[in-house]
Amino acid sequence: MQYKLSYYNIVADETRDTMTVWNTKRGSVVELERPVWELLGRGDYADARVAALLDGLRKQGIVVSADLDEYEEIVYNAKMRQYATGQDSIGLVIAPTMACNYHCPYCFEHGAKGQKDVMSSEVVDGIVAAVEKKLSAAPHVKNVRITWFGGEPLLAYGQAIVPLQAKLHALCSRMNVAFRAGIITNGYFLSKEKFDFLFREHNTNFAQVTFDGTEREYCARKGTTPEAYRRAVGNILDLSEYIARNGLKVTINLRLNVDNSNLGDIKEFVRSLKADGRFHNNVMFSLERLRSYDFCKDTNDYCTTPEYEEILSDFEEFIGKPPKVREPKKTFCGQHCMNVFCVGVHGELYKCEHDFGVEAHAVGSIFSGLNYNDYFRRFMDQPLPEKCATCTILPVCMGGCPHRRLELDQAIECEYTVEHLKKSVRKYIEKRRCAQ
Ligand code: SF4
Ligand code: SF4
Repeated sequence: MQYKLSYYNIVADETRDTMTVWNTKRGSVVELERPVWELLGRGDYADARVAALLDGLRKQGIVVSADLDEYEEIVYNAKMRQYATGQDSIGLVIAPTMACNYHCPYCFEHGAKGQKDVMSSEVVDGIVAAVEKKLSAAPHVKNVRITWFGGEPLLAYGQAIVPLQAKLHALCSRMNVAFRAGIITNGYFLSKEKFDFLFREHNTNFAQVTFDGTEREYCARKGTTPEAYRRAVGNILDLSEYIARNGLKVTINLRLNVDNSNLGDIKEFVRSLKADGRFHNNVMFSLERLRSYDFCKDTNDYCTTPEYEEILSDFEEFIGKPPKVREPKKTFCGQHCMNVFCVGVHGELYKCEHDFGVEAHAVGSIFSGLNYNDYFRRFMDQPLPEKCATCTILPVCMGGCPHRRLELDQAIECEYTVEHLKKSVRKYIEKRRCAQ
């Protein structure tokens, strides 16, 4: 058999006697003696030093069969993941209302602004019936996950969240299928009265809440009051304590929206939260960049990718996040696959949460199923941007957000830079060496 070096090998560090090689397609990081790396580069597989390592190098993906077209393999595997019908899980992102108590300028639900309806009991029952039909027809599905989204979903707590989550949970228990829920909320209505129902009784194991910094930034950016800030922060801290006290496996993710002007303020916010006695380690912080694509018209301080990566490195060091090597994935996001759909207030089906409330982007309805319209085909079938064909980090990026690609006619800014990802590998290796 003939071999070649994988196209997706990246030399992350060559400053030592050993070379650190990261294979982005397999997610492996290996350290090789410089002469061995040079022999591999010359295609000298007969040399005893290479022959002794060949099996391992093949398993790590550093070396591949000479006739393998790795790019086509990636594209094929992405299609398989997108259209596979045998997945053991289904996911629904559900917007029980598009109404919201805030006015964040970066909210992408531009098409839905002003829509105040709350999901009706007919739609609630329609969703339960559709899930039951799916589970009966596909006995291999063993996991159902729902994520509450909006608008602010907790505005529909009594009318939609309580009946729908209770009914879906009961249905899954009856059909011997695992049920999990998550919620994306601004935190204002996440009061103690809701904790038992959501987190203890009905399997909500994830809550994401967005903050923009301390009270000053929060009020300015969200167009709200100091009282609202204090209430949202208080609710998160109460939830953190509740989870710890009840020994629950629930993660609270605080999504911190960053641009070029608010990193200092975000750090101050994190410090103040950690200083509170109710804070526990069940709260994670994740920095997310604002983009013009998210319709943030009031902010002119968007970061470019390299700027964001600088800010991210700084922030991760600040919170003491352990270095990680970015892992390969089959598709950029789960919404690009057939086992995840979004359900709107009136039971409309969408492929992405950015489409909520945009009638022209609906791809069917919970009552009648998919309609296989042109938008659905264009969302699912779009090719990777041309530049990705020669990109060595394609396996960890997969071309960026498919919704953004469609909206921007493929002209998207890259999600990552190779240099930044190489730096993460070096930090990871450094830590691994120190631990040895
Ligand atoms: S979008 Fe950019 S970083 Fe991502 S795979 Fe394509 S070329 Fe690479
Ligand atoms: S398609 Fe893009 S915007 Fe939609 S969920 Fe996926 S990553 Fe987010």
